[in-house]
Amino acid sequence: MRAILVRPPAAGVELGDVPLPALSPGSVRVGVLECGVCGTDHDIMSGRYGKAPSGDPYLVLGHENLGRVLEVASGVTGFVRGDLVVATVRRGCGRCRFCRTNRSDFCETGLYTERGISGAHGFMADEYVEIPEYLVRVPPSLRPVAVLLEPLSVVEKAVFQGQRVLDRKEPTPGDPKTATPTALVAGTGAIGMLATFVLRVRGYEVVAIDRHGEETLAATLLGLVGARHANVAGGMQALGDQTFDLVIEATGSVALDFSLIDRLGPNGVLVLTGIPDAGEPPASVAGGALLRDLVLGNQAIVGSVNANRTYFESGLRDLTVFEERWPGAAPRMVSARRPFEEYRTVLTSRTPGTIKSVLTVRPDGALAPPGSP
Ligand SMILES: [Zn+2]
Ligand SMILES: [Zn+2]
Repeated sequence: MRAILVRPPAAGVELGDVPLPALSPGSVRVGVLECGVCGTDHDIMSGRYGKAPSGDPYLVLGHENLGRVLEVASGVTGFVRGDLVVATVRRGCGRCRFCRTNRSDFCETGLYTERGISGAHGFMADEYVEIPEYLVRVPPSLRPVAVLLEPLSVVEKAVFQGQRVLDRKEPTPGDPKTATPTALVAGTGAIGMLATFVLRVRGYEVVAIDRHGEETLAATLLGLVGARHANVAGGMQALGDQTFDLVIEATGSVALDFSLIDRLGPNGVLVLTGIPDAGEPPASVAGGALLRDLVLGNQAIVGSVNANRTYFESGLRDLTVFEERWPGAAPRMVSARRPFEEYRTVLTSRTPGTIKSVLTVRPDGALAPPGSP
């Protein structure tokens, strides 16, 4: 079958022909429809990240996925041919207490694998085989946006973690000053935009920042969901002196991350999701003032990565709510769908104004059985 291959730690990407995965007992064979492309794919292709499965000279790229069930091994229940499915990404180490209880996103040993990223083949291929535990069934109505479910799961976890820390303080019912929580989202790529949508659904007043004017698709969508857009190309003073209860960071920029700490209000929480380049030169910060303010303000900085199945499921519920509240808005985040043959262009060039680029592996007609939605 066709597959997009990388050979970490070497840079580069190629279209290859690899063996079809066999349907093993207890598993499900899935035909891939679409794969989203994100910064992690770019990092893998540039050789900064990623690992082939042991014994294989290559890694099949791709972790953001949507497919249709082609075949179900006998005895497997809950899936039928034609079902839309999204596969989760991380496979637990099987040793630590978190991986043993389906929370591999909190793995303590670091011995997990991640499909399309580290130690396990990904989804940019005609087919894959997976066990039901790692497959999330998607309702047909969510077909246009379901390729966003994996990045959304990362957002769901980040927002949930931030909220858990905010919930340290007792709520103060009726206090007008705390009635509407405020959030700052740094970055208007797919993660930042999805975070904005989720936070609006959770009742937050949201300001989202990037380095662009009002002419972008992101700015338009922010307006549609009732969030404020601020262009900070000229500096963070574009925000005035506003501070926030919750700050979600989705850029991986070290300099920006430190400046976000200043934007925390009393008892505020900063959740970091972007992955900075560890090779960046040391940043100079006023450490004393920074740490003092964190202590005196009861503030917290939390890192959040990956997501377990729970967050895929809450993401599915939110995708439905997005469509109810802002019909047609979330699908516009998939701003470019390109055929598989154009993988090199899609993977190596970033079209300005694109929120999420998607590679169409196979058109739906090739996979949907007759009579399926
Ligand atoms: Zn991704
Ligand atoms: Zn583990």
